[in-house]
Amino acid sequence: MKKQDNSLMEKIISLCKRRGFVFPGSEIYGGLANSWDYGPLGVELKNNIKNLWWKKFVQERDDMVGIDASLIMNPKVWESSGHLKEFSDPLVECKKCKKRFRADHINSNNCPECKGELSQPRQFNLMLKTFLGPAEERVNEVYFRPETAQAMFVDFKNVLESSRKKLPFGIAQTGKAFRNEVTPGNFIFRTREFEQMEIEYFIEEKDWKEKFELWRKEMWSWMTETLGVEKSKIHELEVAKGELAHYSKRTIDFEYDFPFGRKELYGLAYRTDFDLKNHYQEPPYRDEENNEGFYPHVVEPTFGVDRSVLAVLCDAYVEEEDRIVLKLKPSLAPYKVAVFPLLKNKPELVAKAREIYKELQKDFMVAFDDRGNIGKRYYSQDEIGTPYCVTVDFESLENDDVTIRDRDSMKQERIKISELKKYINGKL
Ligand code: ATP
Repeated sequence: MKKQDNSLMEKIISLCKRRGFVFPGSEIYGGLANSWDYGPLGVELKNNIKNLWWKKFVQERDDMVGIDASLIMNPKVWESSGHLKEFSDPLVECKKCKKRFRADHINSNNCPECKGELSQPRQFNLMLKTFLGPAEERVNEVYFRPETAQAMFVDFKNVLESSRKKLPFGIAQTGKAFRNEVTPGNFIFRTREFEQMEIEYFIEEKDWKEKFELWRKEMWSWMTETLGVEKSKIHELEVAKGELAHYSKRTIDFEYDFPFGRKELYGLAYRTDFDLKNHYQEPPYRDEENNEGFYPHVVEPTFGVDRSVLAVLCDAYVEEEDRIVLKLKPSLAPYKVAVFPLLKNKPELVAKAREIYKELQKDFMVAFDDRGNIGKRYYSQDEIGTPYCVTVDFESLENDDVTIRDRDSMKQERIKISELKKYINGKL
C-alpha cells in the first residue's frame, strides 16, 4: 500500500483551484467547514461521471428504473428506517484543546493534535436538522436526507405500480445527501454535503448471494472499465460482522489507495428485507404464481460521486518531465477537444478555427485557445485532461484538413475536418 503522499494531495488541490475543477466553498467569507464548490471544469467531470453511471446502470438495462426524490422527507421516514436512533458515530472530545474526533478513527487514548486527555466516547447523531415553514418549533423539525436510499423504499409501491416491473429489478437515484460528520476533511473525500449514486436492487431472498456477486462484478466493471481507475489501487474489504451497519447482513467496502491512505470509495450491502418491512405494514409485493404478498430483499450498491471524482483525479494525475497530464478517459474529460488557430494574428486562420470550434460544439464540450504558442496551449490542455487538440494552419485553408494531437502519446496526425467528429466519437 502506498504511504501517505501529502504533497500529491496538495498538488491536486492546487490544480483543481487554479484550473477551475474545485474551489473552497464560500472562500471570500473565509470558507465553511470543508465545503467545496465545483467550478467550470469540475462540474463537467462530475456530470460526465453521473451521466455514464446512469447510462450503464439505468439506460442500458431492462431491470432498472430511476427516481429523483425530495431531499427533505417526512421525519417518520427516519424514525422507521432506524436513522434517528442508530445513525451516529462515536465522538470524543479533547479536554485540553476541545477538538472533536471520531473515536473509531483514532488509535490512541490521547488527542492526535495536542496529546491532551480525551473524553469518554458518546454517540453523535449525524442527521442534519432544519425547520420546515416559518415557525422554528419542534413540530416543524425535519432532516436533510443522510442517504438517497430511503426514497427508493418509500416510493417502492408507486414505482412498482407505475413501471410494472417484476423481481428482480432495481431503483436508482443520484443526488445530494447530508451528514453532520464529526471530522470532515481530506478535500472532497469527507464533506457534510455530498452526492451519492445509489441502487436498491429488489430480489427474492433465496437469490441474495447470486445477486450480491453480480453487483460486485458490476461495481468492478464500473471502477476499472468505465472510470478507468487502476485495478491494483482498489481493494475489497469484507466488513466484520460486529461492524456492520444496523441494516446490513453483509457489506463489502471498495477501498481506493488515496494519497492520504486506503479509504472507502464505495459500498455493497445486503440489506435483507429490513427497509421495506420498516416502511410497509402490508407486504408491498405479490408473488406472480400464488398471489401471496411478501417483502422483497435488497442488495444495495452505493457510489459516492465526490469520492469518484477524487479517485479519478488522483488516478489520472501524472507528472512527466516537462508537463503535467491528467490522463482521464476521454469520456470523462471536461473538454473532449481543443481547437487552436496556428497564429492569432491571421484572421483567415482564426475564422476557420472558430468555424470548426462552433461545429464541434454541437456535439462536444470544446475549448478554444489562441493565446501564446502551440506548446503552451498543449501544456494547458494536458493539465486539464483534454484528449485531443486540433490546430488549424495554412494548409487547412487549402486542403480542409487539420493536425490532431493525442494527449497521451503526443503524436500528431493529419485528418480531414469532415472526419473530426467521427474520430472523436470513436474514442469516447
Ligand atoms: P465512511 O465510513 O467513510 O463514513 P460510510 O460507510 O458511512 O462512509 P455509506 O453510508 O456507505 O458511507 O455511504 C455510501 C457512500 O457515500 C460511501 O461509500 C461514500 O462514497 C459516500 N459518502 C459517505 N459519506 C460521505 C461524506 N461525508 N462525504 C463524501 N462522500 C461520502
